[in-house]
Amino acid sequence: MRLVFIGPPGAGKGTQAVRLAAWCQVVHLSTGDVFRENIRAGTPLGAAAREHLDAGELVPDALTDALVADRLAEADCASGFILDGYPRTLAQADALDHVLAESSRELDGVIELHVGDEVLIDRLLTRGRSSGRSDDTAPIIRRRLDRYRNDTHPLVELYERRGRLIRIDGDADPDSVQRRLREDIEMRTTSKE
Ligand code: AMP
Repeated sequence: MRLVFIGPPGAGKGTQAVRLAAWCQVVHLSTGDVFRENIRAGTPLGAAAREHLDAGELVPDALTDALVADRLAEADCASGFILDGYPRTLAQADALDHVLAESSRELDGVIELHVGDEVLIDRLLTRGRSSGRSDDTAPIIRRRLDRYRNDTHPLVELYERRGRLIRIDGDADPDSVQRRLREDIEMRTTSKE
């Protein structure tokens, strides 16, 4: 199973993607997690990414594309993966197309987690009080939502045109969202057989 999660910050992508990857028994790859780990570990990638994360801006495509291409080439990704937070721009979607085409792979689905703005801001501010994430503050949240609308949301249309989009209402409680996701994936897998 090869899936992508798209959704605004606070939609619950991370929570849902981790659980779905465990259920599908595939690799979970969150580019945001990789950047945060590298910042904590003080690596050159962390140093290059830090100012972008702190400002709520996107890390340049070249850095992000390279890290995803390297990870997807590892053996454990051969049986599938769930990308969480990548691609986030049309150029990244293009880069992903190339990486997958080179190894004759295709995406099975792109999950859009849809959540209204007020719920998002509320969730992010609540998370910010406990997560300690430097980008969960009101002005940076606004910037991240802008980035989502301008840079990432166009991907929803792209994957819809390709017949890959799976739209899920992310407003519901996390267990119900996960149940809907699994039902949808199960339906697709059985209809393919
Ligand atoms: P996330 O954990 O997905 O909310 O991502 C946190 C931050 O990491 C984002 O606001 C960006 O600064 C950076 N980031 C994560 N994924 C990407 C990506 N695909 N492209 C560029 N920047 C990213």
